[in-house]
Amino acid sequence: MADFSQLNELLLNQINCGQLSHAYIFRGQQAMEQALSLAANLNCPHADYGMPCGSCTVCRNILAGTYPDCHIVEPDKGTHRLEGMKTLGAQAGLSSMDNGWKVFIITQAEKMSVEAANNLLKLLEEPPAQTVFILLTAQPEQLLPTVLSRCQLFIFTGDLNHRQGEIDDITLNDAISLLMELPKMHIYEVLLKAREKEKRDEQRVFLLGLLHALHSAAIGKISLPMAYASILRSATMVESSLELIDNNVNQKLLMDVVLLRLWQNCER
Ligand SMILES: [Zn+2]
Repeated sequence: MADFSQLNELLLNQINCGQLSHAYIFRGQQAMEQALSLAANLNCPHADYGMPCGSCTVCRNILAGTYPDCHIVEPDKGTHRLEGMKTLGAQAGLSSMDNGWKVFIITQAEKMSVEAANNLLKLLEEPPAQTVFILLTAQPEQLLPTVLSRCQLFIFTGDLNHRQGEIDDITLNDAISLLMELPKMHIYEVLLKAREKEKRDEQRVFLLGLLHALHSAAIGKISLPMAYASILRSATMVESSLELIDNNVNQKLLMDVVLLRLWQNCER
């Protein structure tokens, strides 16, 4: 049987401050673990600083997938269909056990038909009390913009957490300033910026800084001159470039492409 992982600090803060959103998009390797941990933190009577006890009935049932208020909704033959969303809507309308929280975890949320997505949207617009919808997806940019705009995005990449220590405030602030300046820059300035870092290690840290900045913007901690969908698209793009940089790619070309794409994604 799996075990819970420590809940992300921002999410824990939101619970403690009573500022939990009713809809989230979780992306990355630990998305499901974090979704289950959130469900358990909301319902386990012994949860402590973001860590559910793991042994009470609530915790054991959540881990076993049998807790009646924690629903895992998977695509039906590759697609989330309207019927599935209607069932979800009916379940969301029921009251929870012991006045607890209802959590709906929708896996591969990008595989939602337009009808299903519009049905979900109605729920997100008028969410039942004490209910959280968590959309798990590797491609948030494929969700309907109307659905996207109602959700808070969290990216749980193993690598990102692992390497978090490598990012200092200066790197992050440099990345934020660069993203703020981008729309005003001329294309040759963008290319000059892309070629400033020549060593692979420097480029990796630079990309991580950009990813962190985009992540902060996606969860509303900072604002960037980019539409929400562009922020998500940019984060996905920077993330894949981080994977590429450790393989045998032409780094110079990669950096050019990353910065040019970010430049295109900015609002002017
Ligand atoms: Zn427990």
